[in-house]
Amino acid sequence: MARVLFIVNEHPNEAFAISVARETAKLVRAAGHTVAWRKVPREATYLGVILDADRALSHEDVVRRKKTAEVVEGFHKEVKPELTYKFHCTPHDELLWRKSYKRAKADFSIRGGRRKDGTHSYTVEMKAVYKPFPKRLDDRITSKTDGWAIRRASYLEKTTSQSKTRELGLDPEKFAERIAKVILKENIPKRREIFRRRGRIKKKKPLLKRWRK
Ligand SMILES: [Zn+2]
Repeated sequence: MARVLFIVNEHPNEAFAISVARETAKLVRAAGHTVAWRKVPREATYLGVILDADRALSHEDVVRRKKTAEVVEGFHKEVKPELTYKFHCTPHDELLWRKSYKRAKADFSIRGGRRKDGTHSYTVEMKAVYKPFPKRLDDRITSKTDGWAIRRASYLEKTTSQSKTRELGLDPEKFAERIAKVILKENIPKRREIFRRRGRIKKKKPLLKRWRK
């Protein structure tokens, strides 16, 4: 049985991903694993920094103030997971799910790899439907990002609509079933054993050598 870390809310405008993570956690726990649930506090995020600011911020100010990466590292130190999954439905990825895009065979993806500490961390991205922020919130974002050329970054422009996403037949429960299936396929005891025996994974051959073969 493995210790799995679920991280949500790195991007607070992607609340639908939290619903999917919640349903997925139920299934992974039911299979006997331990799931540590960690939510990044809003104030540590890109959007949170902007909303909490007492004046208009430059983009550099926001990048300097946001603490998402530090918070995520803190979760790793605290939980010491064998596997990590971060749940997103990032608006940038909308393109990936379009029928016209050749890789659009699925409506979710799980990408990632080994961390420096030898454990594996994956980002789960899923398709969602978005809506503009409510006017009050949009006004606040506008006033705190005065003059930004990138003001219309998708994180600051829209938020997931849970109801519209469900209307499209994209239910958190359905996503969870398929995502949990992928997670439960991970052979963690085997992976742990290999890691212990080898100490480290063999380095890949340089690209040029592989090419010449
Ligand atoms: Zn995201």
